[in-house]
Formats: sequence, C-alpha cells, structure tokens
Amino acid sequence: MKIKFLGAARAVTGSCFIIETDKARFAVDCGMHQGSDEIEKRNWDVDIYEPERIDFILITHAHIDHSGLLPRIVKHGFRGPVYATEPTGDLIKILLLDSAHIQEVETNWKMRKMQRWGKPASIEPLYSTKDAEAVGPLIKTKTYNEIFSPGNGIKANFQDAGHILGAAILELFIEENGTSTKLVFSGDIGRRHQLLMKDPVTLSAADFIFMESTYGDRNHKGEADSLNEMAEAIKYSYSRGEKVVIPAFAVERTQEMLYSLYLLSRDGRLPKDMPVFLDSPLAIKATEIFRRYRSYLDGETQSLLKNGEDPLDLPQLQFSSTTEQSMQINDMKGSAIVISASGMANAGRIKHHLRHNLWRPGASIVFVGFQAQGTPGRNIVDGAKKIRVFNEDIAIKAKVWTISGFSAHAGQDQLLDWLGHFQNKKMEVFLVHGEVSAQDQLASLIRQKLGFDVTIPEYLEEIRLKAGAQFEEVKPAKVEEPKIDFDLLLGDLASNISHIQNLKKKFKSLPLSKQMEIRDVLQEADNSIDEIKTNL
Ligand SMILES: [Zn+2]
Ligand SMILES: [Zn+2]
Repeated sequence: MKIKFLGAARAVTGSCFIIETDKARFAVDCGMHQGSDEIEKRNWDVDIYEPERIDFILITHAHIDHSGLLPRIVKHGFRGPVYATEPTGDLIKILLLDSAHIQEVETNWKMRKMQRWGKPASIEPLYSTKDAEAVGPLIKTKTYNEIFSPGNGIKANFQDAGHILGAAILELFIEENGTSTKLVFSGDIGRRHQLLMKDPVTLSAADFIFMESTYGDRNHKGEADSLNEMAEAIKYSYSRGEKVVIPAFAVERTQEMLYSLYLLSRDGRLPKDMPVFLDSPLAIKATEIFRRYRSYLDGETQSLLKNGEDPLDLPQLQFSSTTEQSMQINDMKGSAIVISASGMANAGRIKHHLRHNLWRPGASIVFVGFQAQGTPGRNIVDGAKKIRVFNEDIAIKAKVWTISGFSAHAGQDQLLDWLGHFQNKKMEVFLVHGEVSAQDQLASLIRQKLGFDVTIPEYLEEIRLKAGAQFEEVKPAKVEEPKIDFDLLLGDLASNISHIQNLKKKFKSLPLSKQMEIRDVLQEADNSIDEIKTNL
C-alpha cells in the first residue's frame, strides 16, 4: 500500500493522509491548512486530493485542522461515507457551519474592499454554508472499540485519545495479498489528567505508527501551576478595573476554562462581582454537546454531574449569542473575563475584544492553547509590539500570559511514555503534526530512549509501506520553495510610487470624499510596509 502526506507534514495543521491499497483509496483526516498565506493557499488546490477517487474518510476528531476541508472535498466530488465517533459527528456539524460562515464573511469583506477601490470582483469563499451542510448526511458514527469495516480488506477501530470530546486514536488493520498490516494514527494525543477528558488509551502493537508531535520539544506545567497563573491574571486585571481576554477554541479549551473558573470560584479565587462572558455562539453550542455525552467525560466530572454540581457553569456566567450582546461587552466599564473564539485570534469575535483591550495597560490577554506559526496569536505570544486588527495597528500594552498547562496535547514526556507502550521494536514511527524543531527534538529522543526507527515525512511525500515494517519512498516530496521575485516586486512598487508622485496635483483637485478615500488607501499601504519593517 501507499501513503501520501497531504498535510500536517513538517507543520501542525492540514492533517490528511491518503492511503491506497490494492482495493481501496481512502483518507485519514481532512483538515484545513492554517497559518501564513503560503500555507493557507493549500486549501484551494484540492485537485491533488483527487476527491472523486476517495472511497471513504476516517476522521480522528472534530478540530478544524483535522476536519475543516471536508466541505471543499465534498464540493469537488467526494461522495463516500465519513466515519467518526458519535460526539465528533455532532461537533463536526457545528464546527463546519461556523467555519463556512467565517469564510463567507471574510469573502464579502474582501469584495466590499475591492469595490471601494474601484475594482469590483466576484470572489468565491473556500466553501459556503451550503457546502458545509452537504457533509452532514455523509457522516456515519461509531463508538470507541467498535471494530468496523469501512472498505474491502480494511478494519478500523477508534480508541479514546483523551484529547477533546470524542477524539480518537485510529487503529487500521489492512489485508493485502494474504498479509495483514497494522497502522496506528495517533490523532492528537491528550494530556493526561485533563479536567474533562479521560487519559489516552495506550496500545502495544503496530507495524507503522503515525504520531503527532505538537509539543515534541517541551513539557507543560502542572495543572495547579496553571490555575495559579490564571488566578494571578484575574487578580492583576481585576485590581486595575480591566478585562481578562481569553482566546479559546470553542471546543474543549472553552469548556476546560469554564471548569477552571469553577474551581477558582470554589476556592474563593474568582471575585464574585466579576462577570464572566462566554462570547461565542459556537462555544455555547459545543458546551451543550459536552453535556449530552456524559459517558465520554472523565470519572470525576461524571460524579460531579451526578451529584448535581455543574462544573461548566458559574453564578456570574453570561452567554452572548447575538452580535449586539457581544458589542455590549466592550461598552461595559469595569473588570470582566471574556472567553471568545477563535483560539489563535485569526478569526471570529475575539478580534473585536483584542482591538478593544490590547492597547489598555492593566488588561490581560491569556493564551491557553497552541498558536500556529503566522497567526496573530503566535505574533502576540512571540512579543510583537503591535499587531494589525481590522486594518488598524494596535499597540500591545496589555499583559500577555501564556499558560501551557491547560493544553489538550500531551507534552514531550507524555508523548514518549505513550509511544513506549508499543512492544514491536521493528515498528516504524512517522512523526506528523508538528513544527520542524519540535519534530527533530522528539525524533532524536525516540531513537535514543526507545530505539524505534523514525521518519519525518515532508509535505506531498508518498511512501510505499510493506508488511514486515519496511518502507520505500515512491515520490520524494516536491520541495515547495516559494518563488518570490523581490526585484520585480520592488521595481513595481518604485514605479507606482513615482507615478503617484506625479498625480499629487490631480488629487488636490478631486472632491474631498475622493481625496479621503485615496488617503485611506495610501495610509493602508504605508502601514503594511511599516508592519514588514517592525516585524523583521
Ligand atoms: Zn486537535
Ligand atoms: Zn490537531
């Protein structure tokens, strides 16, 4: 059989592995590529996935970097079943609708901008609400440990990955020419002792494993430390009458934040008069799905719920479903906690809260999840002095906190420990879903401590897997060096500027409204160039 790496290869996002056996061609995960423009361009070219030739898709969990490209693949001809666990099936539906809505809003915004510039254009979103709705009927749900056969000669089994509600490790048993080969896809492996999730299931057998490596280069702090840091951030901004803004993924991170605030409140470390806003319609819906699947939650949470306690609720918790309610939060004076999506601050309502709070000394921005390269969240965490939100440069004067202990991902030691349960020393380990430095560090630790062979596949690389744990490269990765002709670009820019110098007189003769429009465009261009300078 062959496997092709269409994403999460030398990167965290865009998980998608296409496997071709002698009888079937199918995908494990179908995630969106997120981050820089270069990376996000990959979402548009789905021809390389050959959607109409994919027989079925197995989804490890609902996060958009694992499921977010489904509507586009369906739009381009995929018609087979999509297998997932029950909670993943429910979560995917709301997450994809939300993702489609974001695509539509951003496309409209771009179109309006081009119209204002006198360049009317019709641009299609990556996918629409209708495309997202078309995924729902294809979803077929399974429980954990329910072995099923999605295709000829293939058996599959989802096991609890302890990452987010319904997240799975995928076991695949593939029969070819009378031999059976076992592949394991770790999906995202959860951090042990998470508040809401059970610990990840450990496995002991596989011929090939495809393992995530998001935190291959570091360990997280413990939960108690993280709760203390959160309490400190709350104290810091409460005493200054400012807000605590928490960008959080709508699924899991938000619910863990609610649980943490519940624990702080129980210990008297959350001021009773400090309102907590859950400002994300998606997170509100996701929280309902968490309540629906109690048996998937960890023992402690289940017994709290049984005793009538609700760790996902607080006396001062307020939901903001409508845009008006969301805007009222920013008109409100005084201290409050605002939990909003998206978690990497690249889309959604969180951008409004950042615009209103980033520049305020005394406010807190608390990052509690992974920030991919190229996202605004990552830039803030990396110490940017200002960032651009809605075409406006915002100085960063708020205190920035990065609390890693709430992560839904296993840290370095836990990844090694999980992998150490495998007994077959001939097993080949493929590291996926990680940035270069994290993968390199984890790979050398695995070789040193566990003695497994490790391969780190590149984007678009294709490998032939043979039973007996040997593999060969079919097609080396196409090295995708972006071809950027800076001479040409700068030459263009210079000639445009000299052209515009000559138009100065003409500008002054135009009506005031037109002059203001031109001023805005020039200012924006100037700001963009400024941004390049400051971020270097
Ligand atoms: Zn995930
Ligand atoms: Zn992921």
